[in-house]
Amino acid sequence: MSPPPPNEDDVISQHDSSSIPQNRPISTIVIIIAMQTEALPLVDSFQLTEDLNSLFPIGTPWVRYHGTYKGLNINIIWPGKDAVLGVDSVGTVSASLVTYAAIQALKPDLIINAGTAGGFKAKGACIGDVYVASEVAFHDRRIPIPVFDLYGVGLRRGCSTPNLVKELEFKVGKLSTGDSLDMTPHDEASILANDAVVKDMEGAAVGYVTDLLKVPAIFVKAVTDIVDGDKPTSEEFLNNLSAVTLALGKAVTQVVDYISGKSISEL
Ligand code: SAH
Repeated sequence: MSPPPPNEDDVISQHDSSSIPQNRPISTIVIIIAMQTEALPLVDSFQLTEDLNSLFPIGTPWVRYHGTYKGLNINIIWPGKDAVLGVDSVGTVSASLVTYAAIQALKPDLIINAGTAGGFKAKGACIGDVYVASEVAFHDRRIPIPVFDLYGVGLRRGCSTPNLVKELEFKVGKLSTGDSLDMTPHDEASILANDAVVKDMEGAAVGYVTDLLKVPAIFVKAVTDIVDGDKPTSEEFLNNLSAVTLALGKAVTQVVDYISGKSISEL
């Protein structure tokens, strides 16, 4: 007989057991962003400079922009361009690697994963909406064997931020992550099972690493395309990318302004 499946509270990791003190002011923030277009408005807004002596292994395309803003040590980490193809290194593999490397090198008090996402209009998402993810999970790691199925879904909770989302009036919803921009019927069924409002290609991978290393993480996702609408995703994504990245930049700046001077337990 196989053992009974674990119940939800046993399988969802929370960041409350963080090794980082919850009550001292946040000082170092790492912002993980997959695309340069998404990163640049924030590099501008925080007046960051690109690190010329990389903290990361030689040969990696990973880029750090850093500086001080409102008393916070801010680092934006962008996985850079693929060395052969020259496009942004989007997706879960790069996202988890840079998250791991950035935590090792910078020991941040908080990770923010900021980016664009597809949204489901059936769940109330509109183009330009900014969501803070309550939970992140994968939709393309199907392992139909008891317990491995839950491992594949990889559900993690984001850092609890009731005051922040209320004050800044962000929408809150679940985020589902997979390595494809499009959505197969299999993916769609898993996303529905994950009860997600937004869909991206990095969040749950960042969540896996921040949970492993016990660093609180906030996921801020701005909707570039409606997944259950009638427009092709890639076309809609590219049409809305520059306008929505400005909205994302504004939202992340508000989040950082709010964080300044506060501890994790005050968020
Ligand atoms: N053709 C694009 C490729 C970007 S991939 C380009 O011009 O480079 C899409 C990126 O935006 C990923 O980082 C992903 O996290 C996010 N994203 C936006 N809409 C998405 C959707 N509908 N599904 C999955 N990821 C999406």
